[in-house]
Amino acid sequence: MRIAIIGAGFAGLSCAEELVLAGHQAVLLDKGRGPGGRMSTRRITTVCGEASFDHGAPYFTARDRTFRQAVAAWERRGLVQPWPIGGLEAWVGVPSMNAVVKDMASRQDVRWNTFAQGLVREGGLWSVATDTGLHGPFEAVMVATPAEQAAPLLSLHDLEMARAASLAKSKPVWSGAFVFADPLQTPLGLFRDRGIIALGVANRIKPHRASAECWVVHADSQWSTDHLERPAPEIAAALLDAFFQALELPRVAPVEAVTHRWRYAFPPESSLKSLWNPTLGLGACGDWLLGPRAECAWLSGRSLARAVLSRSFASVSSRPAS
Ligand SMILES: Cc1cc2nc3c(=O)[nH]c(=O)nc-3n(C[C@H](O)[C@H](O)[C@H](O)COP(=O)(O)OP(=O)(O)OC[C@H]3O[C@@H](n4cnc5c(N)ncnc54)[C@H](O)[C@@H]3O)c2cc1C
Repeated sequence: MRIAIIGAGFAGLSCAEELVLAGHQAVLLDKGRGPGGRMSTRRITTVCGEASFDHGAPYFTARDRTFRQAVAAWERRGLVQPWPIGGLEAWVGVPSMNAVVKDMASRQDVRWNTFAQGLVREGGLWSVATDTGLHGPFEAVMVATPAEQAAPLLSLHDLEMARAASLAKSKPVWSGAFVFADPLQTPLGLFRDRGIIALGVANRIKPHRASAECWVVHADSQWSTDHLERPAPEIAAALLDAFFQALELPRVAPVEAVTHRWRYAFPPESSLKSLWNPTLGLGACGDWLLGPRAECAWLSGRSLARAVLSRSFASVSSRPAS
């Protein structure tokens, strides 16, 4: 079966891996410039040299047995390392957070810079209308984007799926990355919940990162919601103030300040796992169907692939895949 997967984040790629392993052909379409999604790493050149920062998920946890097996395999291949400083069962990608997603994407047919605008169903086959033209035909389509981006794609074809997606309201996060010319005079490399900052992490406490003094801070969801539409320079200044207050240090100017607005950072918890309509050949996966963690995204992708592989196209209705 030829299958389109919209979204090449952790969920879409996990789904693709399983489907391709079973002999299907998967084409992934992603609006991003490269691999990562919400596990992405940004690289910039500064006057102090190259700096890279994980500005989405700073680490991930591995609690589920199947996911832990996958993580162990990535560890053997040098793609992740345990990161106890982040908490129990915490891991980080090496040399950057997007290492695993990048590796998974390298083995799939991914079309980057391709924004899916709509799904067209004709004669029992699917096409995906994108800003680069029509892609298809496909026998099935999997939507592996955040809920808010999935809802408009699903709505013309499966109202129940679209309803589930529109009920999953994600919380936003403003993130800031600051590069300093000299190491800051603090023994801390990670802090949580100080003022408006939910999390601050220095690159130097992660393995295999470049040596520049680079910090990533995440504003808490309430502050991010209240300031969602503010201009980036204003956000950078506010985050920097809050950062120095949190560390009780005098303010110094960074050599580089970069912000990113994650509009759909954290979906609510869910028990749906994934959604699959075998009659239409339409599915959905992503962290919004399980919980706001990378592990949940991966498990949701697997859940959808297994539902596709185990159910025939002849049966009716789109119900949560068990
Ligand atoms: C600030 C922040 C902090 C986080 N902290 C943690 C943490 O500490 N621990 C943890 O486990 N998790 C954390 N997470 C959550 C984790 O990153 C996500 O759960 C996980 O990455 C979700 O994967 P996904 O594949 O479901 O979605 P995504 O990674 O969002 O992937 C979806 C993909 O779909 C693409 N896309 C969207 N719409 C379209 C379209 N119309 N056409 C084409 N492509 C499209 C996007 O470009 C993207 O690549 C954090 C996330 C953020 C943002």
